[in-house]
Amino acid sequence: MAMALESEVQTILSRIESQRDEMLYQLVLWAAINSGTSNLAGLSQLGNLVLDQLRAVSDDVQAVPVVPQLFVDEHGDLKERIIGDVLLGFRRVGAPRQAILSIHLDTVYPANSPFQLVKQEGNILHGPGVADAKGGLVVLLWALKAFEDYVEATGNTKLGWKVILNSDEEIGSPASREVFSNHSDGVDFGLLFEPCLPNGSLVGQRKGSGNFEIVVRGQAAHAGREFFKGRNAIVAAAQVTQKLHALNGRWHDTTINVAKIDGGGPTNVVPDTAVVRFNVRYPSADIEGALNAAINRIIEETQDGITLIRHGGFFAPPKPMTEAYESLLKTVQANGKTLGIDLAWEPTGGVCDGNRLAALGIPNVDTMGVRGGNIHSPQEYMHCDSLVQRTQLTFLTLITLAERFPQAEAPAPE
Ligand SMILES: [Zn+2]
Repeated sequence: MAMALESEVQTILSRIESQRDEMLYQLVLWAAINSGTSNLAGLSQLGNLVLDQLRAVSDDVQAVPVVPQLFVDEHGDLKERIIGDVLLGFRRVGAPRQAILSIHLDTVYPANSPFQLVKQEGNILHGPGVADAKGGLVVLLWALKAFEDYVEATGNTKLGWKVILNSDEEIGSPASREVFSNHSDGVDFGLLFEPCLPNGSLVGQRKGSGNFEIVVRGQAAHAGREFFKGRNAIVAAAQVTQKLHALNGRWHDTTINVAKIDGGGPTNVVPDTAVVRFNVRYPSADIEGALNAAINRIIEETQDGITLIRHGGFFAPPKPMTEAYESLLKTVQANGKTLGIDLAWEPTGGVCDGNRLAALGIPNVDTMGVRGGNIHSPQEYMHCDSLVQRTQLTFLTLITLAERFPQAEAPAPE
């Protein structure tokens, strides 16, 4: 890097350092607003504050409504769920290189969750969503501010970006997945701001995931007078559960977790309805077909008088290691080194919108967010120092990619 550039970069890195308290203050405010996936009022309140910040660095911002989603309620009936808007920000849409920066606004904590309080103890911030993923949201916005300062100072306008902030990631992005695919054309790489692992590592490969519901319908009857006329949905659900559980171990690194059974009622009634809910995790897309067939076979083995109806499906394709992905991880790692951070990456069974972007052909590093832990629990926390660190890391990564895009411009070998 040229001397003048280098001093500009140093100036911006120090500026990020000096913004620590401002970033922390913003995070405390945002984490105190409950934005559970179903809390539309909270999501809209948070969204308005975030849009104000996004507007300041974007050429254009939009709040895009999405279609309501169907879900299976505890009686086995399909109900509609309204999903919050997706927020978009754009800068230099015509630039030769394009990035997507993305993270979710929603958390796993509903409006009535007992976990609402945000409190700081030294370098640790406790609170709902501080790590997953409002810390990352703050990092994304401040890194873009820093990057735009750099663009202004250097005149390097080669990299344009889109920001995608969705409100349904914690339920598998059923509505926003369409927005990702609508904005994937011509995008060279993605950065997502999920929290990194508690030890600071990035995530490499991710498994694929699917959520399914099997609605079991039997026949209600009086347990005393007409027991033998009844068809017991709970017993059938238990049999289905056993068969699903027995699939564990059939395919390499693939798990089937029966998570919940709804159903039943008074003890003097043969129950006529149950819902079996389960999740599958699998390492490669070629297992999907076999899993699918095995689930269908279990449903076809239905006994007399019982009907099984399957809902749900695979919602996050596996995110394998590819050459382009590894190259992007190495770029982030090299920038970590500049900041004195040792960055490694590890595979995980967890999924995120990075799975979706990868399936759309966009290599992406999805754990650019803050360092924290105990996510999805009332003990969620974040290391305050990581706000500055990850903002600097993202800023350096963006300018590296604006200066020299890995591989993209190298002629393909014969
Ligand atoms: Zn998350």
